[in-house]
Amino acid sequence: MSSANRSKHASWSLDSFQVAPSEGKTRFHDFDLPLPLMHAIADLGFEYCSPIQAQILPHSLEGVDAIGKAQTGTGKTAAFLMTVITHMLENPLEGERYLGEPRAVILAPTRELAMQIAADADLLTKYADLNTALLIGGMDYDRQLRTLQRDVVDILVATPGRLMDFMDRREVNLQLVETVVIDEADRMLDMGFIPQVRRIVRKTPPRKHRQTLLFSATFTPAILELIERWTDSPVRIEIEPERVATDSVEQHIYLVPEEQKTPVLINILRREEVESAIVFANRRDQVRRLHEALSKAGIDCGILSGEVAQQKRTRTLQNFKDRKISIIVATDVAGRGIHVDGISHVINYNLPEDPEDYVHRIGRTGRAGATGTSISLACESDSFMLPEIEELLGFSLSYEQPPAELL
Ligand code: AMP
Repeated sequence: MSSANRSKHASWSLDSFQVAPSEGKTRFHDFDLPLPLMHAIADLGFEYCSPIQAQILPHSLEGVDAIGKAQTGTGKTAAFLMTVITHMLENPLEGERYLGEPRAVILAPTRELAMQIAADADLLTKYADLNTALLIGGMDYDRQLRTLQRDVVDILVATPGRLMDFMDRREVNLQLVETVVIDEADRMLDMGFIPQVRRIVRKTPPRKHRQTLLFSATFTPAILELIERWTDSPVRIEIEPERVATDSVEQHIYLVPEEQKTPVLINILRREEVESAIVFANRRDQVRRLHEALSKAGIDCGILSGEVAQQKRTRTLQNFKDRKISIIVATDVAGRGIHVDGISHVINYNLPEDPEDYVHRIGRTGRAGATGTSISLACESDSFMLPEIEELLGFSLSYEQPPAELL
């Protein structure tokens, strides 16, 4: 904790964070959370628990294993971080600590997600004496090593491959891990990371001697098998995808032939009400071509896709957060970790093959109590995806001809 934060926290009390009880809602005050954590929650402006937090915290704070069927946008990150932080603050370690021996390890499939989790951890530990370290591929190994060698680490956030590298070089030891968090297990599986995750989990204490929290957007048989193997009598929490964000998003489907998509997109982005937007496309080459076409049309935009160097992606995301650029073109994987409030529009240049990706995409807008707009440009081949998307949403969408001024 910095000395500035230390003095800010010294004079803080719960009196300055009052939230009125409200029927059907859970307050963070309803759990006996440590004061430094409550102070950080107050700074973040969270008043009531999101549904997954309200459901999982009563169990996870008791140290019980939990599995959550929940996507991004539900507040799951804060749910597991608050669990980890509370446990650490309530059970300070006696005796000497060694470098590279974290108390909690959090695994995420993508660098963006890992970075987001570490950033959230920094915010939530602002007034606690707990250190977070981030180990992700594609970034400077030596720098990450130096961070690890500088100070003890309490919360280690990592992508599996990079963590394996550090473990193989004996820079990280997981013997003292008290909590294991596996985020987006379904993506881990899709991306072929499970063998690595399995090796990592094996290096932590046996499941009865640790707490395990696992999150996944779907519970397929393969995921259930991992849950069986890694957790011990877990509570199971499910947050239905349609409760993610769709209520606050006005969804439009414009029927547009393939060859007209780019001009229509350009006209949409030129509209005044488009304050900030993410344009999603299914493939990397489409994202690249769109970025070129938009730039040529004089539209300043950033690009987030797997073929762009990690440092550049990080910079782009930061510029977007700082509102230095207002438009980003992204693939689903790269766009998953975008947690920026105040995005006015999500535009689907094409519809994703996985309907869950549609829900993820549109959930980038309409966040934090705001309303947002999503516009999907659907040509004939996209229209085949619509029935599955509607099934997942639980209602049908209306298809429109784009307004004349966009053509
Ligand atoms: P996540 O599902 O973890 O990606 O979180 C989605 C967003 O919700 C993040 O921007 C969080 O900062 C925000 N958030 C998490 N919990 C709460 C809460 N209880 N109240 C308001 N916002 C929250």
